[in-house]
Amino acid sequence: MTRPPPTDDPGDAGLEVGEQKHAAAGLRAVTTALSMSAEQMGVRRTALTLARVNQKHGFDCPGCAWPDPEHRSVAEFCENGAKAVAEEATLRRVGRDFFAAHPISDLAGRSDFWLGQQGRLVEPMYRAPGASHYTPIGWDDAFELIADRLRALPGPDSASFYTSGRASNEAAFLYQLLVRRFGTNNLPDCSNMCHESSGAALSHSIGIGKGSVHLEDLYAADLILVVGQNPGTNHPRMLSALEKAKKNGAHIVTINPLDEAGLRRFRNPQSPIGMVAGTELADEFLQIRLSGDQALFAALAKLTVEAGAVDAAFLDQHCSEYEEYAAHLATLDWEDVLAATGLTRAEIEHLARRYRDSERVIVCWAMGLTQHRDAVATIQEITNLMLLRGNIGKPGAGLCPVRGHSNVQGDRTMGIWEKMPSSFTDALAAEFGFTPPAEHGLDAVDTIRAMRDGRVRAFVALGGNFVAATPDTDATTAAMGSLDLTVQVSTKLNRSHAICGTEALILPCLGRTERDQQASGPQVVSVEDSMGMVHVSRGRLDPPGAAVLSEVAVITRLAEALFPSTGSGQAAGRIDWPGLRGDYDRIRDHISRVVPGFEDFNARVHEPGGFALPHPPRDRREFPTATGKARFTVNPLATLAVPEGHLLLQTLRSHDQFNTTIYGLDDRYRGIKAGRRVVFVNPADLDALGFADGQYVDLVSVWSDGDRRAAGFRVVAYATARGCAAAYFPETNVLVPLDAVAHTSNTPASKSVVIRLEAAQP
Ligand code: SF4
Repeated sequence: MTRPPPTDDPGDAGLEVGEQKHAAAGLRAVTTALSMSAEQMGVRRTALTLARVNQKHGFDCPGCAWPDPEHRSVAEFCENGAKAVAEEATLRRVGRDFFAAHPISDLAGRSDFWLGQQGRLVEPMYRAPGASHYTPIGWDDAFELIADRLRALPGPDSASFYTSGRASNEAAFLYQLLVRRFGTNNLPDCSNMCHESSGAALSHSIGIGKGSVHLEDLYAADLILVVGQNPGTNHPRMLSALEKAKKNGAHIVTINPLDEAGLRRFRNPQSPIGMVAGTELADEFLQIRLSGDQALFAALAKLTVEAGAVDAAFLDQHCSEYEEYAAHLATLDWEDVLAATGLTRAEIEHLARRYRDSERVIVCWAMGLTQHRDAVATIQEITNLMLLRGNIGKPGAGLCPVRGHSNVQGDRTMGIWEKMPSSFTDALAAEFGFTPPAEHGLDAVDTIRAMRDGRVRAFVALGGNFVAATPDTDATTAAMGSLDLTVQVSTKLNRSHAICGTEALILPCLGRTERDQQASGPQVVSVEDSMGMVHVSRGRLDPPGAAVLSEVAVITRLAEALFPSTGSGQAAGRIDWPGLRGDYDRIRDHISRVVPGFEDFNARVHEPGGFALPHPPRDRREFPTATGKARFTVNPLATLAVPEGHLLLQTLRSHDQFNTTIYGLDDRYRGIKAGRRVVFVNPADLDALGFADGQYVDLVSVWSDGDRRAAGFRVVAYATARGCAAAYFPETNVLVPLDAVAHTSNTPASKSVVIRLEAAQP
């Protein structure tokens, strides 16, 4: 039943474009999930493995960070969760024979889909200077080599240590400990490219960079706004929560440049009736223009204040800077609002009434808000609106940034951040007896700049696919290729293995589905979901190979090689790396003394369902901000200028994709089959620009340092917002200039790239 990996790269040869769908999930989601799983795992392994996903004594889905409900269903996963698990638990293997058959230059020319379909890495591989191929290397030799090269660098800041959101809390805590013990804060992570803008905005406004709702709040809300998010593909179990909220009387409004199937109708596979009839989720759809959200929420706030519908007691007791904000709203120009949003005044006034008439309101958002120049201002504007009526710190209300990767929030909580507060590094110093570096480090975009400029010479990645996930692909590829050393700790093959340094290593690690056997027995790890719930994950499958190590084992063995003198209990820091590897409870003991909210960690993490981390604004309307209150912020409206004859492009995922992992070549809900180089454009814009559906074009982005080109895209006439287009990443990351970033958060502005279409060169 399993299917071998594709030998040839299918590309877009079989591309078909059909009708857009207006319902998500259903029987097709079940059959797709099972067939794609069986292709990778076979029938029996599929049944055994999927039965354990997101179960209280099972393992956490390596997909997104949507929380688990108290009562788990037998199949507590979605179609894309099944795909994520199948890709990890696949029976396909990539070993020395594969690398002998494929020179690095060949791998560099392959598609992300083809690379990812080859299977699990099963032994450490090394690329020597000048070598055309990766060849096997022993673990001890690998760690000695890496340690030797890192020690030989001009200084610790000449290296950068990346983390993808799949790393467990235990691995992330030890990784930041190793990096800070080495002497740098260069800890970029995938959050830099996704919810960094949310963290920056919320930290300023409410004093904590995390969402303020629990799953149960969604079920109790009167009004739920889903903004710049496509849960049908990116957080599919959220649809079940929205369906339950709807049944409890919630009104749901979706605000998006695209009319996504997942928010129209949900055919819940968990119920026969749901599977057939389905539930209409969104009561209203506002088709907003890309980067128009700040204007929309400022206008909603203006109308709320003008209607005198503010919660005066809440403002008085819990907020600061309201007067300055109200004065700013008085200057807001409706013409600017309508130009920026592309909406009508009537649509906005209707939503404002809906907001005023609701007691408990939740706003959910994702990359559609965070990857813009003014993303931080936009999220602060949402917070302003919610503060006006006290929609925080009460049941059924709050702010809900929905995280993309399963433990991206947990990694940040564990210290994976280039600018952790001194309270954290002081606690680390007290716990381990060394002085962590004080100077803030490099995030993802700054790491690429430093690589380009020769300031960073070595790059180590704990998971992820940095080259494909980052903007300005040509610049990033050149920068990565210029390094002395690259090290990738990975489960599967990806582009960042083909775009490597003079010396490069690939170190295979265990996935979440696999048993992690250490000296004290099988280990569990923990993760933190999008709503701040921490719970265990217990892998059960046999490792894909005897030479595959856990993330914790890789980190601790590298540390032993890098810091030979810090063996158990000796000088230069009290870090017992082998002891921590042997028993992860000891890692959690350290975490409980360093990271606030993890007291008694080992006991609480084993409670069924885990425990909630503290969130003062949610728990007791306390706001640990600079003013000690929730802060209104004034952000002048600056509409993004789009020259005549140009469009605003957003990069996005297909339905067969999770971040840079391409599960398949279909995008079922948008009518795309067997292809990825497509660009969705509004038919009226096509007429105005002189292009036609089915025509092939180049996409050319415009920036101060010149044009960037992505060639050979098939035009798909699609109901996007006027003036806005959409195409998949990583293929269009080449169009996003490195310097096109969000203010304050430095997050790539991948959702509003100014482009023009040019007829494709023959
Ligand atoms: S909603 Fe997210 S976490 Fe849940 S099963 Fe699907 S991909 Fe996994």
